[in-house]
Parts: sequence; structure tokens; C-alpha cells
Amino acid sequence: TIKPVQVKLVLLGEAAVGKSSIVLRFVNGEFQDNKEPTIGAAFLTQKCKLDDKIIKFEIWDTAGQERFHSLAPMYYRNAQAAVVVYDITKSASLEKAKAWVKELQRQANPNIVIALVGNKLDLQANREVTSEEAEEYAKESGLLFLEASAKTGESVGEIFTDIGNTVFDLAKKIPLE
Ligand code: GDP
Repeated sequence: TIKPVQVKLVLLGEAAVGKSSIVLRFVNGEFQDNKEPTIGAAFLTQKCKLDDKIIKFEIWDTAGQERFHSLAPMYYRNAQAAVVVYDITKSASLEKAKAWVKELQRQANPNIVIALVGNKLDLQANREVTSEEAEEYAKESGLLFLEASAKTGESVGEIFTDIGNTVFDLAKKIPLE
């Protein structure tokens, strides 16, 4: 048997962009409409096979409300990966995501792998953020980038496999603790 590699991952982003829905899609393969908002933070784990390796993601899903902002460092401080989520139908949520990225790049582990995720890809008709502008920002900031839909499940698995692969590539240069 292969020993799983643990990866501590934190989700950040404005309230209602779909952080919990992405986690629930990844962990349970389901989408819940009108889900109750997360208070404080929720912890879930999920194992994932990558080639000949197994990753155990230890996921902290944080609440997006500003009143919980002061708690966030507790969750990202030791994280190896962060998923910063915005809603493609809300420009303001991308601005909030950029603020989170800035905070992570200043305060988190300098080797943290950050993925920018534009969620609610199923709501194309209401799109406010183009793929190009988000991708360009991600590229210049050194972030992984994906658009996904927790509702349809599109590209949700890829978020975690992209992160897993990047963490493993990094581990070849910097040994995991
Ligand atoms: P969080 O506050 O960022 O954790 O967001 P939630 O996961 O609680 O989702 C907020 C709202 O957006 C809920 O009503 C979800 O059902 C809805 N939602 C989440 N993801 C998607 C998605 O991919 N597509 C659509 N159409 N709605 C979504």
C-alpha cells in the first residue's frame, strides 16, 4: 500500500462565490442548491489518486464574510495550497479574490500553491469577468487558473489534480516535511 501525501488546502473568496459547493462537489460528487452558508470554517478530507501517488487533501473551507476575515490566517498559515474563488458573474468577486492573493503572497508560506478559480461557469449568460482578463491576471501573478462549475461538476476535479501535480513538482525541489 502507498502512504498518502497530506496536502493542507484552504479555500478563500467572497461569500456566496461557491467555495463550499466546490468542496462538496469534490468530496461527495453532489451539488446542493440553497446550501446554508458556512459559519467560521468547515474541515473536510478527500483522497485523490495521481498517477502512482495518493494525496489526502485536508481542506479548510472558510466563511467569506468580512467579519470572519481575522480568522483566515489561522487556516492559511500552514497551508501548502490555496484555492481562491470568484464568481464569473460578479466582477467585484474577482477584486476580492485579488485581495486574497495579495494577502497570501505576503503572509502565507512562500511555497504555497495558489489556484484562482472562476466558479459558476454554467451561468455563461450572466458572465461579467472574461476568461482572458482573469487568465492574464493569474499568469502575471504566478497562479494556476481554471474556470469551473460546482453545479455541473465541470473542471472541479481538475482544480485538485492541478494543485496535486504542482505540489508534487515543487516537492521534487523542496522536500515535503
Ligand atoms: P460560499 O459562501 O462561497 O461557500 O458559497 P456556497 O457554496 O454556499 O454557494 C453560494 C450560492 O451559490 C448557493 O446558492 C449555491 O447553490 C450557488 N452556487 C455555488 N456554485 C454554483 C455553480 O457552480 N453554479 C451555480 N449556478 N450556482 C452555484
